[in-house]
Amino acid sequence: MRIIDRVYIDGSFVEPHGEQWAPLFNPATEEQIGKVRLADEEDANRAVAAARRAFPAFSNTSKEERITMLKRLHAAVSERAGDLVEAMRVEYAAPPSFIDFAARRAGNVFLDMAEILESYDFRRRIGRADVEMRPSGVAVAITPWNSNYSFICGKLSAAIASGSTMVIKPSEMSAIQTQVITECLHEADLSKGVFNIVTGYGNVVGAALTANRDVSKITFTGSTVTGRAIAQMAATTMKRVTMELGGKSPSIILDDADLQVAVPQVLAACIAGSRILVPAYRRDEIEARLKEEVKVFTLGDPGDSEVRIGPMVSQKQWDRVQGYLRLGQEEGATLLIGGEGRPEGLERGWFVRPTIFSGVRNDMRIAREEIFGPVLCVLSYRDEEEAIAIANDTDYGLQANVFSSDLERAKRAADRIEAGRVIINGAPHEPLAPFGGFKQSGFGREFGVFGLEAFLEPRAVIS
Ligand code: NDP
Repeated sequence: MRIIDRVYIDGSFVEPHGEQWAPLFNPATEEQIGKVRLADEEDANRAVAAARRAFPAFSNTSKEERITMLKRLHAAVSERAGDLVEAMRVEYAAPPSFIDFAARRAGNVFLDMAEILESYDFRRRIGRADVEMRPSGVAVAITPWNSNYSFICGKLSAAIASGSTMVIKPSEMSAIQTQVITECLHEADLSKGVFNIVTGYGNVVGAALTANRDVSKITFTGSTVTGRAIAQMAATTMKRVTMELGGKSPSIILDDADLQVAVPQVLAACIAGSRILVPAYRRDEIEARLKEEVKVFTLGDPGDSEVRIGPMVSQKQWDRVQGYLRLGQEEGATLLIGGEGRPEGLERGWFVRPTIFSGVRNDMRIAREEIFGPVLCVLSYRDEEEAIAIANDTDYGLQANVFSSDLERAKRAADRIEAGRVIINGAPHEPLAPFGGFKQSGFGREFGVFGLEAFLEPRAVIS
């Protein structure tokens, strides 16, 4: 049983003022594997005070000094990649490929930011003005459970690069992962107060941080509902906000797509691309392949390297997804494969049967609301025009996929999609490209130069 009873404030692991505890579970077994003592409002405000004390000196560090810090952070996080993998395995139970990627990314984001800093000019001359990009101040990061240390490191790397200090509030469901990453970051030996990490409930610690007048900037990843509440509260003191929210991303399979490429990619991207748009005349063929190929996506405990789909993170998330599986049938969609209940042979663990709904209309709730589980909706279109219209007929705009054998045609389609990212034929990750959403998927961008500038304010001195 893992007991986590410290928060990280002002460069030290300290006992929180908060006295509430939350249980920690292994989602693959439903067993309680630990407990975490949670921070409260007083801890949140103490963390902000520490970040505020650290800000004047840190904001005046040179670019070279920050590059050195980012490299130290990279080394410290990479050193313990094995421990990060293990923590995410027991506490989040994601499939091995996801965990390996997340653990590698956690360290690499610091190097990516160091690379951006090398060529970034904080000062420029515009007419009679000397314009300097200044750090925004004390920043707060609020992160969810689905990729704990990737979010923490991504957001912290931009804050450090900009010269801002930070308070991080991760999800309490990821406390073991947070503990390991905090130990790594501590090893990088940054000045006291530059970053602080307080695990606690969103409506307690998250709300206190959002209301604190000494916080200038909030960067949030999570649901649109929570993002909206945070943005409203942040507006009271005009905090800058970056919001990475939900999505209902379309995967458009154009009529000339190579299904050998498209079908595995569509299945692999099943959270990022939850609406599959197929040409009506190829629907039967595509559905048959989806149904066949989804069977190779083995479910189970991530200790098994063959596993491609893990469980939901909690009973609450399992119940939520089950609700959508019922709803889809009530709305008149047809189950191609999967459905409610536990997968065969998995009596323990919050596993959901990988599910594909056929005959989905874009006005159904299963096509409009984020489900956040292994659930795909197949929608058919008559022509490309209609495909683009369906793709854009959503409140969200996080990411989209386009599949075609003709790259130029795919790019023309991509140009018409209202989303922050469009991936063509399953192209690999591009770490320096901006990430973020159109419409209710949020605002602002993370990563690369856009991510850095989200933590900067221009100041013009005119003489
Ligand atoms: P939430 O948006 O509720 O939580 C994300 C973070 O915000 C958590 O740290 C949470 O703390 C915190 N939070 C909650 N309420 C407040 C508040 N009033 N003020 C400040 N912070 C707050 O997401 P969930 O984790 O509950 O997941 C629900 C749904 O969100 C998922 O099913 C999915 O659809 C979506 N989601 C999207 C993600 C994405 O990457 N786009 C990532 C995760 C979720 P606490 O944990 O204590 O509630």
